[in-house]
Amino acid sequence: MAYTALYRKFRPTEFGDVKGQDHIVKTLRNQIKSDRVGHAYLFCGTRGTGKTTIAKILAKAVNCENPIDGNPCNECSMCKAINSQNSMNVIEIDAASNNGVDNIRDIIEEVQYSPTQGRYKVYIIDEVHMLSAGAFNALLKTLEEPPSYVIFILATTEVHKIPVTILSRCQRYDFKRITIDIISERIKELLEKEQVEAEEKAIRYIAKSADGALRDALSLLDQCMAFYFGEKLTYDNVLNVLGAVDTHVFSTLLRLIIAGQVTQAMELVERLIIEGRELGQFVVDFTWYLRNLLLVKTSDAAEDIIDISSDNLVELKENAESIDAERLMRYIRIFSDLANQVKYASQKRVLVEIAIIKLCRPQMEQNYDSILDRLSIIEEKLEKGIVVNTTGSPSNPQAVVSEINEEEQAEKISLEELQNAVTEEVRQVAQNWRTIISNLHGSLKPMLLGAKLSIGSDNQLILLFSEEVDKDYVDKEGQKEAIEMAIAEKIGKKVVIRTKLIEAGNDKKQDFPDLTKIFKNVDIEYEN
Ligand SMILES: [Zn+2]
Repeated sequence: MAYTALYRKFRPTEFGDVKGQDHIVKTLRNQIKSDRVGHAYLFCGTRGTGKTTIAKILAKAVNCENPIDGNPCNECSMCKAINSQNSMNVIEIDAASNNGVDNIRDIIEEVQYSPTQGRYKVYIIDEVHMLSAGAFNALLKTLEEPPSYVIFILATTEVHKIPVTILSRCQRYDFKRITIDIISERIKELLEKEQVEAEEKAIRYIAKSADGALRDALSLLDQCMAFYFGEKLTYDNVLNVLGAVDTHVFSTLLRLIIAGQVTQAMELVERLIIEGRELGQFVVDFTWYLRNLLLVKTSDAAEDIIDISSDNLVELKENAESIDAERLMRYIRIFSDLANQVKYASQKRVLVEIAIIKLCRPQMEQNYDSILDRLSIIEEKLEKGIVVNTTGSPSNPQAVVSEINEEEQAEKISLEELQNAVTEEVRQVAQNWRTIISNLHGSLKPMLLGAKLSIGSDNQLILLFSEEVDKDYVDKEGQKEAIEMAIAEKIGKKVVIRTKLIEAGNDKKQDFPDLTKIFKNVDIEYEN
C-alpha cells in the first residue's frame, strides 16, 4: 500500500477539525448557516496555515445537501464526490503554473455554465499573486459581476502583490501562524491515531521548528517517523533527522563566548559540522536561545512565554546570571543579522566563525557606541582646559590617559598626580630599588625583599613591613644608615627613609602605594 503523507491523511474534512483559525472558521460557518455566502474570498497568510484546507471545506459546505450547523455532512453524494475529488463543482487552479491571460479566459468561459449538480461552482485559485497583469485584468470583470452560482476563493502568501482593484472586490481573511501549543496538540492526536510513542520534548521541538505552519510540522513529523520507523520518537532522534543541536550545546557555546575563548568556540563549531548539523538551523536556534535568556532576565513570568522544559529553564536561569541584558541584545543583533546572511551563503561556516569572533572580541568592532564614548572623554578634557595630545606622544602623560579605558582611568590619574608629587630622588629610588637592595649586605636583603617601598604624606620614603621582627631588625642601629648609604651610592643623593608596620589584612595597607610597581608600570607604558 502506498504511503500517504500525514498532512494528506489527516487533512480536516470539516470546520471543527481545523486548528488555530477559529475567527475565520466561525465567520464562514455563520455565513453558511444564514445563507449569506460571498462570491469572492481572499485568503492570505503564510504557507501551511490552512488556506486551501478551509477553501475546500467551504466548497463542500456550500454544496452539501444536509449541512449541519454550517459544517458539511461528509455523507451526502455531493460531499462524497468532493472528498474523492470527482466533483465538477470544485475547480482548483495553481496560479504559479497557470498564470497567463489564456488560463483565466478558459475559466471565464466555463463560468457561464451553471452546475449540473449541487448549488455552487467553486474556483480555488492558489498562489494568486503569481497571475500576470493581463490575467488579473481578465479576472477582474468576472469578479465584479459573478453569476450567482459561482464562488471564487483566491489564496496567497503575498497579499501585497495583489492589485487593489482585486482586493476591493474580495472578502479578505488573514490566516494566523499557528501557535506551538496548537501544533503540539495536533501532533499528539495524530501520533495516537498512528500508535507511535513520542517524547513530549520531541513533539515540542517539531512544533517549534515548523514556525507556525501546521503542514510543515506534519512533514517534519513524517520525516522523523520514516527515519525511525517502528521506534519511539525521541528528542535526540528528532535532532538527528533535522540536523539540529541540543540546547546544552548552546549554553556551552555561550560560556565560551563570555570567557572570550575563541579557539574552544571554533572547535565546538567544527564538531557540529562533523556531526552533520545544519549551520543555518544552528544559527536560528542559537538566536532563539539568546532571546530566551533575555526574556528570563527581563520578565518575571518568563516560564509562561518561553517554550522550554523545566530542566532547561533552570540551566537557562543560571546562564542568564552570567551575562547582562545589553550584551545579550548585542549578541542577538549580530546573530539575527547572521541568520539572514547564512540563508543564501555558500560559505556558511566562515560567516558563523566571524560572528562568534565578534562576540568574543567586542573591541574588534568599530562600533558607534565606543567611538561616542571616546569622543565624550576628549570633550570633557578640552572643557577643563587640559591639552590633549592627539599624536599620542609617549612623553605626554595626557595622551596615555586618553588611550586607556575608564576603569583604569581613576587609578592612572592618581598615578600621574603621584608622579608629579614625588621628588626626583624618590622616583629614582623606586626605579632602582632592586639594584639598591642587591648592593646591600646579606642579612638585610631578605628583609627588604619582603618589604614594600612606599611614600608618606610628607613625601618621605617609607618601608612597610607586615612582620614585626623584620621591622625591628631594620630599625636596629646602623641598618637604616646602610640602606641610605646604598641609595646615595646608586643615585648620588641622600634620601631619608622611615619604617612602618602594617600587618597583613589591615585596611590601611591600601593607603600606601607600592612605588616599585607604579614606576615600573609607567616605564613599561612609556616604552610602547
Ligand atoms: Zn453533505
